[in-house]
Amino acid sequence: MDFIEVSKRVKALPPYLFLEIDRAKRKAKSKGADIIDFGIGDPDQPTPGFVKKAFNQALKDHSTHQYPLDAGRPELRKALAAWCKKRFGVTLDPDREILPLIGSKEGLAHLPLAFVNPGDRVLIPDPGYPAYRSGVGFAGGKSVSYPLHESRGYLPDWTAIRKNGLKDVRMMYLNYPSNPTSAVATLRAFNEGVLFAKKHKIILCHDNAYSEIYYDRKRPLSFLEAKGAKDVGIEFHSFSKTFNMTGWRLGFACGNAKLIQGLARVKSNIDSGVFSAIQLAGVEALKQADVFTKKMNRMYKKRRDLLVSGLKSLGWDVKPPEATFYLWCRIPQGAGSSMEFTKFLLEKAGIVATPGVGFGKNGEGYIRFTLTVPETRIRQALQRLKKVL
Ligand code: PMP
Repeated sequence: MDFIEVSKRVKALPPYLFLEIDRAKRKAKSKGADIIDFGIGDPDQPTPGFVKKAFNQALKDHSTHQYPLDAGRPELRKALAAWCKKRFGVTLDPDREILPLIGSKEGLAHLPLAFVNPGDRVLIPDPGYPAYRSGVGFAGGKSVSYPLHESRGYLPDWTAIRKNGLKDVRMMYLNYPSNPTSAVATLRAFNEGVLFAKKHKIILCHDNAYSEIYYDRKRPLSFLEAKGAKDVGIEFHSFSKTFNMTGWRLGFACGNAKLIQGLARVKSNIDSGVFSAIQLAGVEALKQADVFTKKMNRMYKKRRDLLVSGLKSLGWDVKPPEATFYLWCRIPQGAGSSMEFTKFLLEKAGIVATPGVGFGKNGEGYIRFTLTVPETRIRQALQRLKKVL
């Protein structure tokens, strides 16, 4: 039926640059190739037993089978407030300043519907996580990329951003520890961000989905640790990577009460909250967060060190990430564009990685490997690379 046509909003979505790689990967797999997949940021380890147990227990309570409360269960909101206090020293009112989410992505993408009017502009990081742009587009806003450069530790250059013009800029996304660059923010950068936001009346939205994946004892910060951050900002957290719970869909937003309430209003008209049994499993996850994240981070660290030293020995210019399970590295000289090099790795070595350009034009020249691959496979990948490069 030719009257069935996607909306202008959907047509305007950016092209999915990973499609070509996805297609090539599926084709190679269907031909029986042994693919080592460093492409997907999805933990290979299972959700911990204590979370599954709490979930099973919660299932026995019939009240969890009914519609959840829009605002989330009070016991989860209280547990989240206590965790934020302990982990970041940030005080939050569980009733007004915390909102459970069906994973952080939906919150990040729904936020513009609450605060961006058609024609408003929103600053998004380049390179950065693609969902920000889509969310802004759905709200009729216009995304304006701000560049992040290795030379500045991938931190925003506030002066350059201001010079580029801030007319109609209503909101700005930040993401530290960053996907894809793995960069970690300093308190100074967050403090500068708050001053910038106050001065120019811009809402700050910080994506902290990777706060718990870090190495060498340097704990990533919450943006809300910056002075006055709660006056201008909202932060998004996720259970996905921290607790190997990507499929469960659990995250939360916290920060400025007006921002939280606006997001809650959008969500109450679109979804009906997180399955209560998953919320209760989340309460249990938080209780054991300390011990569990240490264990996971030890595992990722071994993988990180193995991959970094292996690539270095092949002459690559790589620095070990301080946080996230991503290794963001420059592609070797003369290896072509990030897309060409990614295709080469897939075709010649059966290795999937993500081309940097998929995260924005400033990602060109880089490639992203995830550390969600066991050590044995990393060793095999390094051997394959040695052969083909
Ligand atoms: N933010 C960033 C930077 C991410 O990389 C991801 C997932 N890849 C998310 C948010 C979304 O995570 P989730 O919806 O599973 O919480």
